Amino acid sequence: MSRQTVGTRGLHFNEPLIFEQGSPGRVGYSLPATDVPEKKPDRLIPKKFLRDDIPGFPEVSEVDVVRHFTRMSQWNYGIDLGMYPLGSCTMKYNPRFNEDMARLPGFARAHPYQPESVSQGALQLLWELEQYLAEICGMDRVSLQPSAGAHGELTGIMLIRAYHTSKGNPRKKILIPDSAHGTNPASSAVCGYQVVPVKSGPRGAVEPAAVADVMDEEVAGIMVTNPNTLGIFEDHVVEIAKIVHGKGGQVYCDGANLNAFVGIARPGDMGVDVIQLNVHKTFSTPHGGGGPGAGPVALKRHLAPFMPVPTVEMKGNRFALNYDLPKSVGKVRSFYGSFGVLLRAYTYIRTLGPTGLRRAAEVAVINANYIMSQLKGIYHLPYDRFCKHECVFDDAIQMHDNVKTLDIAKRLMDYGFHPPTIYFPLIVHGALMIEPTETESKETLDEFIAAMKAIAREARENGDLVRNAPHNPRVGRMDETKAARQPNLRWRPKRKNVE
Ligand SMILES: *Cc1c(COP(=O)(O)O)cnc(C)c1O
Repeated sequence: MSRQTVGTRGLHFNEPLIFEQGSPGRVGYSLPATDVPEKKPDRLIPKKFLRDDIPGFPEVSEVDVVRHFTRMSQWNYGIDLGMYPLGSCTMKYNPRFNEDMARLPGFARAHPYQPESVSQGALQLLWELEQYLAEICGMDRVSLQPSAGAHGELTGIMLIRAYHTSKGNPRKKILIPDSAHGTNPASSAVCGYQVVPVKSGPRGAVEPAAVADVMDEEVAGIMVTNPNTLGIFEDHVVEIAKIVHGKGGQVYCDGANLNAFVGIARPGDMGVDVIQLNVHKTFSTPHGGGGPGAGPVALKRHLAPFMPVPTVEMKGNRFALNYDLPKSVGKVRSFYGSFGVLLRAYTYIRTLGPTGLRRAAEVAVINANYIMSQLKGIYHLPYDRFCKHECVFDDAIQMHDNVKTLDIAKRLMDYGFHPPTIYFPLIVHGALMIEPTETESKETLDEFIAAMKAIAREARENGDLVRNAPHNPRVGRMDETKAARQPNLRWRPKRKNVE
């Protein structure tokens, strides 16, 4: 049993719905008696709009409310509780210092409509962040507008379309390798492009010949996820870029996983024309649960005329928003991007500096390779070569005992770990995609490895234990399809689950 396992057996409470709590007349406030004459509500609002009570409205005290929501928050699992090795998602620890900076009153209370003259600090921060990200990527300009990675992809493909359109023909197709992220074909299709798949080679990377085969003058560009969803660095990008540029196409890089090579290599130097960054992954801003992220798009000079408005420009020693870009693709979101998120990314970059960023990437890569080497042979490795920030196993060995990826993932919860990404990427049957990130210590990685080894042993010796997992969490195995399609929000655990 690992240190983590202990944590799953703490003092957890079952919690009824808030509607099932309280008692008639109980309130959560105390107000002084009114010292002005009371007015009957029906003197202010027509009677037909008034009702005597709100059916089922919970009548609870302050402590009822606080305990209700605090207890439910303890049912949750997050990066502040433990390792969260969700491949492709980069669930790394977010330094609290970022939060401190985001709460500085001058930033936190800035209003999007306040005049430029009193927004100079905020504009300077955006301008400087653009310079940092451009330098990190080897690109000329950066739009900070997009709200997330997929939104950045969409914006990037819009730039490519605008570029081709300005030359008289938007073209028809986008090439997308089978190891790309699933959002890539979606972004291309939303932009009106037909998606042409490119099969990756036996080493898990795209081969230049495969691109040359399908590249022609109808192709607007290629979208390469690098590192790809196998956690493998696309080592032929330079040659691929030459082939695509040779026929007038553009090279898009999905840079969501820049954390694998930030500070080490620059996409701009590899021939990439446009790339999105997921600051909520690489630059440690909180994410998950659908909260705001940011997906800045970095681009080469020839795409700059098409950038979304507004851009932030420095004029003399003043900073200003520029809406005057006649060829712009327009606005891609309200105001100036997810400012609070960008501010956290700025803080992270300034805190780590160039050597710190590079070190973060190195440690992320070492951590993933450490896990890969320790579990190799125990779990099947479909592409047996050094990985970048994540490694991909599958369930081929465990399937001899009829234990599948889903069972392994569920059993990990009993050991106190959030499961890794499963059944993705699609090109690996029964994939287990593990991304430890650089913020986990060797001790935590060893606990995770021990848990994975224990599960492999259980699969051989006691398959039912794994197939029926999880056993420790308050909720056991669910019908996942039904849970997603017909969620029963009124369900609650039976008392017997109480530890
Ligand atoms: C996470 C990820 C995305 C999507 O990013 P969102 O911010 O969730 O929209 C796209 N591509 C890759 C490679 C990713 O890892």
